[in-house]
Amino acid sequence: MTETMPATGAVGCERAGGQGLDANQEESGNAAIMALLTSEEGRAATDLVITCRVADGGATTYQAWAERGMVGWVRRYAERGYTYEVVEACGENPLERQDVTALSTLAEELAAAGNPEDVQRAFIEQAQLTYPYAYERIAQLFDSPNAPDIIVSPKSYAYGRQPGQHGALDVVQSRSPLIFSGPGVKRGVVAAEARQIDVAPTICRLMGFPLIDGMDGSGRTSSERGITPDVYLKRQDGRVLDEVLDDADGRPERVYILLLDGQSQTELLHRLESDPTAVPNLRRLIENGVMLQHGSITNFPSITWPSHNAIGTGAWCGHHDIVNPTYYLRAQRETISPQGMQFDTAKYLGDGVETLFEAFHRVYGEWDGMQGAFTASIIEPCVRGADHATLERRLVGDRGELIALTQETDHEISPRWVEELEEHGHKMMGQIDNRGLAQARQLFRDQSHPTPKLVFHEFSQPDSAAHDYGPHHEGARQALDETDLRIGHILDVLDSLGLFDSTLFVITTDHGMATTDVELRGNPARIPERHGMAAVTCEPCIWLRDVAVTIEVASDGRTARVEVLDNDADTTGERPPVAGATIRVVDSVDGHVATTHTGADGLAAFAIPADLLPAELALSVQAEHFNTRHLRLDGTNISPDPHSLYAESAG
Ligand SMILES: [Zn+2]
Repeated sequence: MTETMPATGAVGCERAGGQGLDANQEESGNAAIMALLTSEEGRAATDLVITCRVADGGATTYQAWAERGMVGWVRRYAERGYTYEVVEACGENPLERQDVTALSTLAEELAAAGNPEDVQRAFIEQAQLTYPYAYERIAQLFDSPNAPDIIVSPKSYAYGRQPGQHGALDVVQSRSPLIFSGPGVKRGVVAAEARQIDVAPTICRLMGFPLIDGMDGSGRTSSERGITPDVYLKRQDGRVLDEVLDDADGRPERVYILLLDGQSQTELLHRLESDPTAVPNLRRLIENGVMLQHGSITNFPSITWPSHNAIGTGAWCGHHDIVNPTYYLRAQRETISPQGMQFDTAKYLGDGVETLFEAFHRVYGEWDGMQGAFTASIIEPCVRGADHATLERRLVGDRGELIALTQETDHEISPRWVEELEEHGHKMMGQIDNRGLAQARQLFRDQSHPTPKLVFHEFSQPDSAAHDYGPHHEGARQALDETDLRIGHILDVLDSLGLFDSTLFVITTDHGMATTDVELRGNPARIPERHGMAAVTCEPCIWLRDVAVTIEVASDGRTARVEVLDNDADTTGERPPVAGATIRVVDSVDGHVATTHTGADGLAAFAIPADLLPAELALSVQAEHFNTRHLRLDGTNISPDPHSLYAESAG
């Protein structure tokens, strides 16, 4: 049943820039949704087609479409951040289940797949999945002008050619382990509900940072909300995880974030519980800290570059602006790929957020000789403001010593990776993390600068291995063991310097990891483009290329003028005219009325038959490199309606 309620007080996209579907994209947006939900290849791989609709005047509704039903919702200002309200549901609400505790163990995951004997075929259907914080995690994305028009969340097992995958909205691909270890935190396991945007504010709270007049999750500062400073960061979407704090336990002097990229939470738990000798160094940290029983829910899309920067800023990707590994800049007509570039990507992080590195420097001062705070980002995609910054090519320390330290642990890289993964392009696996380890050891040994106050250290190997072997494969387990060995070297250095007991360790990941049915070779986001639609596709995101059409009927009713513009404004802020567009006008009497073409100014005109009302005429607008539009002469769209997919609303 469809219910539509008035959306009074609803708050739309924070920074408008063409994201989502506007009135000029109703037809193309609906056609893309239909292609994804009705074509054979679309149905095989698509779980959710997600968008936001921006009406003329700005009224904004967020939508998720699935074969089983659709849901629309709006958001409003709350005391902190936003609240979300469903305003439309048709068929089954595909985001109804949002339980963060679902599928929290490997046994539950395998049981949900109905295939407990074969971890390589643990394919989980949507009926067994949940979508934690779905309304918030979707709405935030569309706050950035870099956000797409549509984003596709594939079925949990149906993306790509690798045995392990992530990126989707569901709980398996979105859950990260989260452990705080050291001074100031409880010991044991807590069942708190957490999001990865909560990590940075919790660190600030544990370090005793001052509250500032910054933005909360709604983008409004404390003073704009009429209260005293209540956040720790320039933009703080997350909250302090009070459930992990133990103020009687002292305060850390420094923070070391160990980010095990792509490490499955259920897999980590399984190793800890099933093998008492496994991962001794991680185990030591976990026993000296507090582990979140159900992990923590990451950014959407659940992919490396957006997720790392959400952890490092306390702000979702729609607010830090690195919305996807690769994304399209509408105004520039350009696709950029921070994750593809790997290096020199700090410049893409938006000005609206503050990294933990920047916050540490704000509180403790810039690094200057032996003064201020010294911070390090090691092989880590969140990098802005770090003094040592691998991915900005700013390496602090003697190069010869670094090479020697790298060679010292070279032999700990298993030869297996080169032998088995060369064809996957992952033959460097192990070597990158071994270099990161050498940087970490050197930064603590080097007495020419202060002891690092903050280290954010990425370990890439768990991710590479889980992609190439599958998250629960023995190869992924060996990669975690090798990572644990590296963590052991770091703990050795801290032990030898007497720093272990005063260091807060945070162990987490940037996303979960699901088992993929590689035979499907699923890739739903490409489907609209492969069906001939004009679109820029950077999986899982789609930017549709549409024309804005304005029709003016002259006051004497004899003629009409059509203006055709590129629906995306360019860098001047204007929408450029589209020349050479073919406009065909038809009526219900004998079909053909007129065919005309736009000039360099994007304008065309034609005569209206005297016996017909404007609403009885229809026109198509066809321009190269754009989706064809169909409209009535009164300007209304002639568009497919995906609501027709649901039997209940068909009558
Ligand atoms: Zn990752």
